Amino acid sequence: MAEPSTRISSQNGIDPTRASEAPAPVAVEMKPPQASKPGPDGIIRSQPETPLVDIMGGSSRQQINVLDHGFIALVDCMPRLVPQGQTADAAIVQAARVSYGQGTKKLNEDRGLIRYLLRHRHTTPLEMVEVKFHVCMPIFVARQWIRHRTANVNEYSARYSILPDRFYTPNLDQVRKQSKANRQGGEELFRVHDDAQELKTAQDFVSYLDDVEGFYKRYLALTEQGVSREMARIGLPVNMYTEWYWKCDLHNTLRFLALRIDAHAQAEIRVFAEAMLKLIEPLVPATVEAWRDYELGGVHLSRLEAEALSRLASGASPELACDNARERAEWADKLAKLGFRPS
Ligand SMILES: Cc1cc2nc3c(=O)[nH]c(=O)nc-3n(C[C@H](O)[C@H](O)[C@H](O)COP(=O)(O)OP(=O)(O)OC[C@H]3O[C@@H](n4cnc5c(N)ncnc54)[C@H](O)[C@@H]3O)c2cc1C
Repeated sequence: MAEPSTRISSQNGIDPTRASEAPAPVAVEMKPPQASKPGPDGIIRSQPETPLVDIMGGSSRQQINVLDHGFIALVDCMPRLVPQGQTADAAIVQAARVSYGQGTKKLNEDRGLIRYLLRHRHTTPLEMVEVKFHVCMPIFVARQWIRHRTANVNEYSARYSILPDRFYTPNLDQVRKQSKANRQGGEELFRVHDDAQELKTAQDFVSYLDDVEGFYKRYLALTEQGVSREMARIGLPVNMYTEWYWKCDLHNTLRFLALRIDAHAQAEIRVFAEAMLKLIEPLVPATVEAWRDYELGGVHLSRLEAEALSRLASGASPELACDNARERAEWADKLAKLGFRPS
C-alpha cells in the first residue's frame, strides 16, 4: 500500500470532509435571480444582476508561439462571460457555495475560500471551469500529452490530409546529454561553444534530424504515386508537428501543469505547459495563486519523511528509515529545498 502522504503547507489537521470545519458562512443576503415569467416556450430567462463581460477581452484566440514551429492558443473557456470586475474564479466560488452554504461576495473572502479548497483538495468546484486550446506540437510531445486522459481531444488526421512540412529541430545549444542520475532524462547541454568534440556530436545529432526530414519528399512523392496517406505517413519521424484541439476542466488542467512544468518532465513539453499556464492565469488568478502556493511550490512529505523531519526538529539526524537509495536521494533533495544542508 502507498505511504500516506502529508504536505508541509497543509498541516493544520483539518479534515476537509467535515463540513463543520469548512469556512464559516458569512451572513449575506443572497438575492434570487430576478424573477421573470416563463416565455411561450416555458423557459424562464433571468437577467444578470451585474453586466457580463467577455473574460477573453473579445479576442477569438490568444496564442503563444512555442519551439520552432509550434504554438498554443487559448480559443475558448467556460465561463466565458463573467460579472464585470470578476474572473472565472467566480464560477469556482459559486459551485463551492453549494457545499458551504451562503458565502460572501467580497473578492478577498472569495480568495480565502479558493485557498481553502486547494489546501484541502476539495477539487470538484475547479471542474466548473473549462479551457480549450488549439495546439501545434511535435508528435513526440503529443504522445506524452495524450496520456492525460481526462481531456477531450480532436487531432489532425494524417489519414485524411497530407501532413504539412513542419519538423522540430533544436538549435545546437539546445541539444541535451543523457542524464547520469535519471535514466529517463537529459539534463546537461553539450558545450558547443567551448568543446570541439561536443560541438561535433551536437552537429551530428542535428544533421541526423535533417536526414530524417529528407524523407518528407519521398512521403509526398509516394502519395502522388497513389500510396494511401494512412500508409505513407508511417515512415515519418516523431519530430514532425501535429495539431489538436484540447479541452479540459481546470482541476485536471492544473494536474497536467503540475506534472509537465515539473523539472522531471521533458523540456519540449515543459515549454508548452509554461505557455499554457501563462494563458490560464488571467482567467483564474486566485486559483492559480493558491495552486502555486499549495501544489506547484509545495513540498509533499511521506509518513517516513514527516517522521524524519520531526527527528530533525528534536536535534537528531533526519535519516530516512528506508534502505531504498532513490528514496533517500529524493529525501535529500526535499531537505535541501526546505533549506536544510547536510552537516
Ligand atoms: C515525468 C513523467 C514521466 C512519465 N513516464 C512515463 C512512462 O515511462 N511510461 C508511461 O506509460 N507513462 C509515463 N508517464 C505518464 C504518466 O504515467 C501518466 O499517464 C500521465 O502523467 C497522466 O497522468 P494522470 O493519469 O494523472 O492524468 P489523467 O489521465 O488526466 O488522469 C487524471 C486522474 O484521473 C484519474 N483517472 C483517469 N483515468 C482513470 C482511469 N482509467 N482509471 C482510474 N482513474 C483514472 C486518476 O486519478 C488520474 O490521476 C510519465 C509522466 C510524467 C509526468
